[in-house]
This record gives sequence, C-alpha cells and structure tokens, in this order.
Amino acid sequence: MKVRAAVAREGREQFSIEDLELSEPGPNDILVRIVGVGLCHTDVKALRGQMGVPKPAVLGHEGAGIIERTGMQVKKVKPGDPVVLTYDCCGQCHACASGSPAYCAQTNALNFEDAREREPGFYRRGTDFIHGHFFGQSSFSNYAIAREQNTIPVRRDAPLEILGILGCSVQTGAGAILHSLAAQEGERVAIFGVGSVGLGALMAAVLCGCREVVAVDVLESRLTMARQLGATGLILASPRVRTAQEIRRLVPGGVDCALDTTGRGDSCQEALGSLRTKGRLGFVTVPAEGFQPNLATMMLGGLSIRGIVQGDSVPDAFIPHLIDLHLEGRFPFDKLVTKYPFEQINQAVADQAAGRVVKPLFTFSP
Ligand SMILES: [Zn+2]
Ligand SMILES: [Zn+2]
Repeated sequence: MKVRAAVAREGREQFSIEDLELSEPGPNDILVRIVGVGLCHTDVKALRGQMGVPKPAVLGHEGAGIIERTGMQVKKVKPGDPVVLTYDCCGQCHACASGSPAYCAQTNALNFEDAREREPGFYRRGTDFIHGHFFGQSSFSNYAIAREQNTIPVRRDAPLEILGILGCSVQTGAGAILHSLAAQEGERVAIFGVGSVGLGALMAAVLCGCREVVAVDVLESRLTMARQLGATGLILASPRVRTAQEIRRLVPGGVDCALDTTGRGDSCQEALGSLRTKGRLGFVTVPAEGFQPNLATMMLGGLSIRGIVQGDSVPDAFIPHLIDLHLEGRFPFDKLVTKYPFEQINQAVADQAAGRVVKPLFTFSP
C-alpha cells in the first residue's frame, strides 16, 4: 500500500519525507495506522549511522495507532483496536521465556540490524528496497507493520496520539526506577539527565513516594520541568560543579538510588560518588570513556551497578499500567510532549538537540 514515510539515507544527516510502498502484511503481521509517533535519541543515533542500522531505512519506534488489518494467525488484536507499539523480541529465548523480554538474545538483530529484512514490514520506492522492522515497527510512516510481541492493546479512553512515547523512552525511565532499581517509599534518588527518560524516572520516583528526588542536567529549562514534576532538588551540571558533592550537600549521606541517562562517563562517575552505603546505580545507555568504578569502594560500600534495557518492562502489563496511572492524574507524561506535523521532522530533531523541547511527537493529518 502507499504510505508517506521519513527515510534515513546513507551519508545524509536529515530525514527525507517520501512516498513509498509498504509491503503487504503476512499471516502473523499487524498493519497499524499510526496517529502519533515520538522521536527518541536512538532514532537520531541511527540516522547518523550508529547502532548498526542498515540504510536506507524507515526509523521510528514510539508509534501509537489504530489497527487497520491483521494477518490470519493474529489473535491478540483486531481491526479498530487502539495500540501502542514497543520494542521487538523473539518470544522464545531464555530471557523472553523467563519474563525478561528486554534482554532478548535477539535484541540487536530484531530491533536494529533488520534480521527479518525480507519479511513483511519492508518498504519500497519504485524498485528500490528500503529497510523496515526498526524496533519491529519503523513507525515514521502513516502506516506501519508490527507483530503480536510488540503490539500492546490499550484502553479507548486514553489520549492515543501521545501514548507511543510509553513504548520506549518513558517506560525505560519509569521502569528503571520501579523495576530495575526497585526504589522504595522514603528512599532518596538522584537522576542524571532529565530528558524524556530521566523525567519518566522522576515521575516514577515521585509516584512511589521517594523522600528526596534530585534532578541533574546541563539545561535550566529541563530542571524547571523537573521541578514542576516533583523534583525536590535541582543541580545545574557543568565542568566546574562536583555533582556528587552537591548531592551530598542536598541529601546528607548521599542517595539510595542514582540513575544515569546521559551515557557520559563523568556523569556516571559522579552518580556512583553520590551513593550512600548499599546504594544502587543504574545506567540506560552505555557510559562513554571516563567511567572507572573503584571496585574497593564498591565492595566496602556494598554498592551495585546495574545495566538497564527498556526499564525491565514487560510491555503488555507495564504500558497499560502507566496509562491507568496517567488517567488517574498520577503520571503526567503528557507534559513532556511537543507536537509537530510529521513533515517537520527535521525541525524537531534540531529543536530536541538544542534543548528547546524535551520530547517531539509527530502527528499525521488524515
Ligand atoms: Zn527472545
Ligand atoms: Zn527509544
């Protein structure tokens, strides 16, 4: 079928909006009319040639929409159902079978490397092949193909257009606090980097009754939003500021949990330095050089460091749970969103990079 999609092409730093042909869904596939899709940093990394994503490709992995059509074998959803799309997994490996699909053995192959390249979900322009299947969805398109594993039915009274961001960045942050670090009521938390992942974490820390929630960022505008969402302490990071010391000044003794969302080595180092005895550090993007945990300090303090993918989310349960909380007014993730018409995708990438917006979200005119 004919679709309008944003294509990432080799050697180009910008998306191009193009009219393409989307392959027909097979027996196990689900065709979704996308009504809203978020822009995540991983899309931008892939656009710039990182993450092992073959090109040309349609990216996009925070889609939400309405089921248009399903293959014969699909049982989970039916046409007309509102859904959120999330990361793909194999459904069969040890991690998938034991309830940890975020650590699927096929994560890279299925989400980044297009291991299913000849299966439905690819695109064409004339006779030219264009990769699909990015996070099992490639949803920078007004129609996309997904599978049962990564299609999550949601309640009809929720604001569907903005729900896609729960499928990656927001569940990553919220799940990191609620599942991976298992923050408890009364604990003290520091969050390094309060973009959409960090703010998802912050809202979760507030939700579970953490006593202190300190937000660290290089941008004043993000700290202002962190304050609005319930941060009790703010630190404007800069090369002159010893963040760990600042946190210990705000929270004597240090914090129980620290989460790094920046991937900066120096940030992770400060995050580790901000922990109290038996504190837990989590990271959701691989720390760059400069992070050298002192193992003796870690042992003597009983500290732990945890790598986290997708907030240990089991999306079939966690995404509907976050939507319930949102509709109860306890998880205001809508505050993160700035909407753009799909055609302004490159403007949105620039605005996000400059810190003018937290989470761009694209909508499609019918
Ligand atoms: Zn698996
Ligand atoms: Zn993402």
